[in-house]
Amino acid sequence: MLRMLDAIVVGAGLSGIAAAKELAKQGLSVRVLEARNRLGGRLNTDRTSGSAPYELGCSWLHESLDNPLWAIAEENGIDLVYDDSSAMVFNKDGPIDPALGQLGSDFGAFAGVHFEDNKQDVSLKEMIDEFVKFHPKMTAEQKKALPQTLRIPQISKGQDWNKVSAKSLLAAPKGRDLLVLGGYDKIYNVIKQGIEDKISTGTPVESIDTSDPSKVTVKTASEEITAKYVIVSAPVGVLKNNGIKFVPEPPSEFKAALDSTDVAEVGKVYFEFEKAFWPDMDKFVFVGDSDAVDGASTSYPLVISNWYKFNGSGKYPGLGVITPPPLTNKFESDPSKAFDHFTPVLEALRTDKSIPLPKPTKVTSSKWTVDPYSQGSYSTYTVGNDREEAVKAFENGFGRVRFAGEHTTVRGATFAHGAYRSGIREASKIVDEVTKGRL
Ligand SMILES: Cc1cc2nc3c(=O)[nH]c(=O)nc-3n(C[C@H](O)[C@H](O)[C@H](O)COP(=O)(O)OP(=O)(O)OC[C@H]3O[C@@H](n4cnc5c(N)ncnc54)[C@H](O)[C@@H]3O)c2cc1C
Repeated sequence: MLRMLDAIVVGAGLSGIAAAKELAKQGLSVRVLEARNRLGGRLNTDRTSGSAPYELGCSWLHESLDNPLWAIAEENGIDLVYDDSSAMVFNKDGPIDPALGQLGSDFGAFAGVHFEDNKQDVSLKEMIDEFVKFHPKMTAEQKKALPQTLRIPQISKGQDWNKVSAKSLLAAPKGRDLLVLGGYDKIYNVIKQGIEDKISTGTPVESIDTSDPSKVTVKTASEEITAKYVIVSAPVGVLKNNGIKFVPEPPSEFKAALDSTDVAEVGKVYFEFEKAFWPDMDKFVFVGDSDAVDGASTSYPLVISNWYKFNGSGKYPGLGVITPPPLTNKFESDPSKAFDHFTPVLEALRTDKSIPLPKPTKVTSSKWTVDPYSQGSYSTYTVGNDREEAVKAFENGFGRVRFAGEHTTVRGATFAHGAYRSGIREASKIVDEVTKGRL
């Protein structure tokens, strides 16, 4: 009879392989079951264009002073560069009035002062409205235009600005952002070294059964595998939508944690061109021209990277657009329409107006909102919901079922390094329990 595994890890994203590597390092038997036919999860460096690596998931090492991936990169000769580039801020009529930027630079401080007197959270939109209403130095025209420039956090939070928690934007910075030259997958590939033979791809887990308290049974379409523990690193979007069935049902605290966690809709689409038609800068921030929610690309803030320059390794010029909802799902559902959708925005970047906007030679798009193995981009919390509460339930797991992933941590939450650390955290707990059990 086959020996029962010490642990099964569901998912081969950063948290999953970090967990598996730690378990294997400590001498425990482990198998990783990955649903997709590719590795990396939301770390997804797409090299299919043949001309440049395009990051469809994570691009930056955020919080560099608290980021264990930096040391891994350094030790393995992976080139990282600081991304301190300043951005040109523009709307569909061209660069915006720099005075707006100056007025807006006080917004963070205004929110800080607000929360000294008021404990209750408000939405980003409400906070912006309050700021604009308060400000005695703004003209009526500036009061109308400024809100659009201040709603940019809507992109990273992946939510409508009516839902983004203003409090969640107050976190102190933990270091400058770094970029991985030539592709984030270089870091993933280093971490997965030595455990490749333990990973099965194209193997979605269908259910996890803990009815027998002495073991956990993980079912795929073709196998039933038993282990002492399972670490589930599937994204929170998958768990919320019952992408994996738990038998018996998870405890109510766990379900409540899932209910209170929202899923961001952040997407990326890259357009590759024969020739650059935009200003020679690293980054651009597009500012919407209205607060309409009609789904037009010109109604929302966007970050656009001059990818060729930014990434330093492309053969052709390219622009990478990072999007908030509802735009993300729009182009992810049908990438063939992405260029038409963003044409009005790209038009505004065209320096030589006498030449028509060229068509892209290649479009590479993320699919996070339409992919059954992500079901959104990452965890996020709307006004009134509390990450710390939810994380407690994720960290506790239930019985032999444990959870890792970007959504299971407060430190480094949503980020690649948070995911990585959470995998090691869960593996260490299991190592402890198995080792004690053997004594
Ligand atoms: C658009 C976007 C931009 C981002 N930008 C940044 C950034 O710049 N910097 C940063 O630090 N972070 C960024 N992130 C977040 C970062 O990518 C994630 O935090 C991190 O990759 C998550 O790792 P994970 O292990 O938690 O989950 P994942 O990487 O999603 O791994 C989970 C794995 O589980 C698998 N799975 C799902 N269901 C099943 C199943 N039923 N059976 C088996 N396997 C299953 C999935 O296929 C996946 O491989 C970004 C994410 C997105 C989407």
